[in-house]
This record gives sequence, C-alpha cells and structure tokens, in this order.
Amino acid sequence: MKTPTAGDSSGFASLGLAAPLVAAVSALGYEEPTPIQREAIPVLLAGHDMLGQAATGTGKTAAFALPLLNKLSEDTKTNRGKARALVLVPTRELAMQVAEALHKYAKGSNLNVVPVYGGAPMDHQIRALRRGAEVVVGTPGRVLDHLRRQTLNLAAVEMLVLDEADEMLDMGFSEDIDLIVAETPKERQTALFAATFAPRILSIAGKHLKTPKKVQIAQEKRAPGKLPQVRQVAYIVGRGQKTGALSRILDFESPKSAIIFCRTRLEVDELTDTLNAHGYGAQALHGGMMQKQRDRVMQLFRSEKADILVATDVAARGLDIDHVSHVINYDLPTAPEVYVHRIGRTGRIGREGVAITLAAPREQRFLQYVERLTKQKVEIGKLPTEADLRKRRLEAAKDALRERIAAGGLDDTKELVESLAQEFELIDIAAAAVAMANDSADKTVVADVPLADERPSRSYDGPPRDDRGFDRAAARPARAPRDEGPMTLLRISVGKDESIRPADLVGAIAGEAKIPSGVIGAIKIHDDYSLVEIPDDVAQRVITALKRTQIRGHRVTVQSKPAR
Ligand code: AMP
Repeated sequence: MKTPTAGDSSGFASLGLAAPLVAAVSALGYEEPTPIQREAIPVLLAGHDMLGQAATGTGKTAAFALPLLNKLSEDTKTNRGKARALVLVPTRELAMQVAEALHKYAKGSNLNVVPVYGGAPMDHQIRALRRGAEVVVGTPGRVLDHLRRQTLNLAAVEMLVLDEADEMLDMGFSEDIDLIVAETPKERQTALFAATFAPRILSIAGKHLKTPKKVQIAQEKRAPGKLPQVRQVAYIVGRGQKTGALSRILDFESPKSAIIFCRTRLEVDELTDTLNAHGYGAQALHGGMMQKQRDRVMQLFRSEKADILVATDVAARGLDIDHVSHVINYDLPTAPEVYVHRIGRTGRIGREGVAITLAAPREQRFLQYVERLTKQKVEIGKLPTEADLRKRRLEAAKDALRERIAAGGLDDTKELVESLAQEFELIDIAAAAVAMANDSADKTVVADVPLADERPSRSYDGPPRDDRGFDRAAARPARAPRDEGPMTLLRISVGKDESIRPADLVGAIAGEAKIPSGVIGAIKIHDDYSLVEIPDDVAQRVITALKRTQIRGHRVTVQSKPAR
C-alpha cells in the first residue's frame, strides 16, 4: 500500500477522485483517507453497488459523499436542478450533519445540497427543493411526505445511499424505504452502510442492491501479549463540552507528557490555540507544517520542554518517544486499529500509561470494537468534579511536603514557626502555610473551561472573606477550577479574517475588563466573528470594556445571549 506523504492529500488523489474534491478535503485539513474511505471510494467510483460496514466516526460520510459528488460533477448540465442523488438517514441530526459535510465537499462545484427532515417547516424545504437540489439528504418519513405532495421527484436519481441502515430499520422505516426506492430508476447506483452485516441488513441489501461489493474493514489480528498494557478510560461528552472536559481531565491527571490526537490539521491548530490561551503549554504537530517546524516541536517535546503535543495521526506516525504518560483521543480515531497505534505511544517499556478517549454519545459503539480488538476493558469514566480536583491537589501537596521535610535545611523556617506558635496553634500555622503555597501556585496557572452541567455561582467582585478576615480563596488548591455559575455567550465581531487567535481574545477580555483569564470559558473563532463564554456576573463589565478597546487593531461590536 502506498503511504501518502504527510502533508499532502495525494492519498485522496490516488483513490481516483477529481482534483477539486481532493482540494476540498485538503482545505478541511484531512491528511489521508480513513480505512473505510480507502476501501469504499474506489469501489463506488468504479460504479459498483456497495455494502459497507462502518460505524459513525469512521469517516463513512466522506466515503460515500466524495464518490457521489465525483459522479455528479462529471456532467453538471444534464438534469441540472433535479434530484440526482438521494441520501437516506435515520435522524434529523444526521441529515443535517451529512448535508453539511456534502455541502463542504461540494464547495465550488455548482451542486446544491438540500436536507429534508421532520420537525422543520415544510414550506421552507419546498422552496429549497424548487430552487433546485441535485443532492437531497433526508429522513425517510419526510422524503415520503415530499413525494406524496409531489414536491420531490426521484426520477433522475443516479445514486442512492442508505446510511446507517440498521438504525433506519430499528426505527421502523423499512416500508418507507421500500416505497422511496421504488420511485428511483432501476439503473441507479446504490450504497448501503450499516454497523453490522446482520441478516436483516443482508436482506434489505438483497432487495435494493445489484451484486454489491462488500466493504468491511479488515480487523488486524493482534496477539494479546503484544498489546500495550495501559489503563483505558473513556468519557462520554457532547460536542460542545469537549474543551471543558479535556481541561478537567488535564487538571486532574496532570500528565507529565501527553499526546492529544485530533483528526484534522484545522482541529489541531484550533485546540492548540485554545489550550495555550487557557494556560497549558501545548505544541501542534501536523502534516501541513514545514519539516523544520516539526523538528523544533519534536525537540521541545522530547526534551520535556513542552508537555502537551497536539497531533494528527499522520504526523505522529512513527514517533518514538519513551516518556509519554498519557494518550488522549480528543477525536475518536477512524478505526479501532488506529486506536491501537495511538495508545501504543504510551505505556512503553514497562512504564505505566493511560489512554483517555472523549466519545460522543453516538460514538459509544466504537468503544465496543476497541474492547474486542484489544481484549481489554475500556472503563467509562465520570469526569472529575471540582471536589475531586481539590482532593487530588491536596494529595500532591502532601507528597511535596513529605519530600521537603525529608530534604531538611528548615532551621530558619522553624524559628519563624516557633515564634508564631506563641500566638497560634501549630496546626493553624501549618494549614495557613499550605494554603498560601497553593494560592501562589494558583496564580501562575490559568484555570479551566467550564462544563455546562455544573452551576454553583460565585461573584467575581472579589474573593469571599471569612469573619476572621482570612482569604478563603487562598485555601483553594493550585489549578483548582473556579466555581461555575451561569454563562453568557459573547459574539465579538472579529475572527479568522482579522487573524484573531484565542490568546488575543483572552488577553483583551482579561486585560481590559480586569478579570482573571481563568474565568473565560470556551472560545470558538469563526471567519468573521468569534464566540466566547464568560460568567454572567462579569458579562456587562466585559462588554463595556471591549467597546472601549481594539483587538488586533480592530474596533469591535459585541452581542450577548445566555450561553445555554
Ligand atoms: P463520520 O464517520 O462520517 O461521521 O466522520 C467523522 C468525522 O471525521 C467528521 O468530523 C469528519 O469531518 C472527519 N473525517 C472524515 N474523513 C476524514 C479524514 N480522512 N481525515 C480526517 N478527518 C476526517
């Protein structure tokens, strides 16, 4: 098998896709085809019907979307505006997601993609279909509705995709599918994707597919003895919570050295920026970087000057680093085998390693594949709470104190303690000393990104003081996350077009509004605007401050709404 050079998209070109599609995936930061893409794309480009086994997260959408668009782009004049491809999916969410992916891959192709799903106004969809849609992505019920109203005609369909067919059957769409397929021409090309090849899937394939080629990702056989012995934990988190969850995990685990895997170059860059803006020392590594830059990053990581490396699979391939304590799958790998490669970077030569995976609720099936392949349990973890973090911090302080006492040389300090002992109990003196040490450590780091489901509140007008005048915040352990109240989402009128980075936003907000940068939540930078979460109780102060200032030389407007 040809291994594409890291950094180009020759892997996609060598599958036979047209140049504009190769350019589209390259612009999205895809470095190489995933296993299902490598197998399925040539089969579909050759015009065969196909029965594919692939779960969510394997890159299956692009596996059918790219050949589909390739086929339609060959002649964009005939049947212009008519439905030439139909993708049936089980749910409204998937319809939106698949349509969005198709839309991105189809950029510049003159092909229109329209999603149709239940629960959304009919007239809007009818207008979109009337304007002309070569690719329709829909749920069976709603597609049938449109067929009955004659607002959709499938007589020109050249390609039909049944995505997540097993789920569609589970949801009772079997008859609807039959009725819809009957409206499409017999000579169409058909692809069916399901998570298993169960008998009922083979039966529906028998009905609607013509001598299909089966595409199944061969599972690498591994002797259990060869598998890395690492603790495997997965956290189930929704898309919007990933940064917050990662931050919690990093704080709790305090990895000596971690590799965080993302799927695309863009995600690597974004996550690196976000982590750095929140005070973690992260370096990016992907195929789009110059060799010299990559060498520099590797040098920093090897010499333990950077403790977090955020990388794509391609860029991290073949890296031989001994000291990785944690592998974190920020995005799921595209196949269980890739997972095994990733976690093989930790737990080397008898060292203890931890593999942590963030999976969306829909992606849990992947974890079962992993368990089967690795013959090891993947524990489903509960995200550490603030109390857990505090406990962990105090344990670390205890260890540090033990070491310090053993090291000796404390005579001067003992004198000080003795004199204070005239006034206070020894235990109070020791507790205050520990609290002060933790507090100063706290000031050198920035706390984490908030999670949606924790909402105690705290005012930021100053730390609470107890009745003896002690600063209770000082008793917080270092790097403990702040308490989290309700959050406000700010929409700030600058983004990538103005070369804005998370650090610019954090700097402007923290600096101008005089709030600790640790209270700033998730940041998302779009082309011409950015979204930043901040606690409700400082929102007005931040808005007023931002109106007075400039970010990277630009005056900004700010809009706000409750974060969730
Ligand atoms: P899917 O399995 O189709 O739901 O895809 C899961 C995710 O993988 C999506 O966010 C895609 O954008 C991403 N993806 C698909 N193909 C690739 C690839 N070749 N390289 C990197 N990311 C990909």
